[in-house]
Amino acid sequence: MTESSEYHRAKCKSKHHVGRLDIDWSDPRFSTREPSFAELYEAMGRDGCSLCFLSDRISRRYIDVYCGDNVTDVDIRSRIRESNGFCNVHAHQLMSTQFSPLAVAFTYSDILRKIRRELQNAEPSNWKSFIPRAIRLFGRKWLRTSENNVVFSQTKSCPVCTEIDNAEIRYVSTVITHWQDSLLQERFKSGSALCLPHLTKTIDAAVDPDLIELLIDVQITHWDQLDFHLAEVVRKADYRFSEERLSDDERQALLDVIHVLSGVRGIR
Ligand SMILES: [Zn+2]
Ligand SMILES: [Zn+2]
Repeated sequence: MTESSEYHRAKCKSKHHVGRLDIDWSDPRFSTREPSFAELYEAMGRDGCSLCFLSDRISRRYIDVYCGDNVTDVDIRSRIRESNGFCNVHAHQLMSTQFSPLAVAFTYSDILRKIRRELQNAEPSNWKSFIPRAIRLFGRKWLRTSENNVVFSQTKSCPVCTEIDNAEIRYVSTVITHWQDSLLQERFKSGSALCLPHLTKTIDAAVDPDLIELLIDVQITHWDQLDFHLAEVVRKADYRFSEERLSDDERQALLDVIHVLSGVRGIR
């Protein structure tokens, strides 16, 4: 359960290759179904949580297209302004994966002017502190918000997060609809574990007891394998066995367990 070198290469591809699927679309097993079926099939053939892989690809694709084409689109920039830019994770992704001075300057200049205007127009007499009066009396009056707790308006959430939320609903729906399809089911059984956040979303959406049983069986098999390796790491930390070196599987398990519990880096 490692992030394969193929996965790492995919993460580093140029913008013209982001999101390309290695799927034969002339195959009726894919062409007759919604695209998310093929995307899931492809993702389940890779190492790591398939939904993390797809979410990561969506965020990279959004930022890639935004920096390349959409940054001059007034409506899209206005949408991003309404969320005061990207969230922490995706703002840093903007800076690290597809750094575009023009996109950053254009986007955040807009937002700076907006929040400057809002702060300047705020009416201090309407403000009240959310800190209890007893504490304020000690001089912490600078901790204030307005009457309705809004100085800086934010009418929308991060656009990349919104894209990911919508896509996750689409992918989980596809799992629920097609889980009995042998093509998808075999991939799932032989593939990697879902991370805990994505397993939770899938279980929460599943209603078929047989699907839930399948999810449980596959996950527990993966977790038991991980736990076996982690127990060995603990055992070898004992001074009596300290001459025994960690195996590759045990080193890998230390990385995989973080992905399995928290998702891959950058996934909310
Ligand atoms: Zn995941
Ligand atoms: Zn975000």
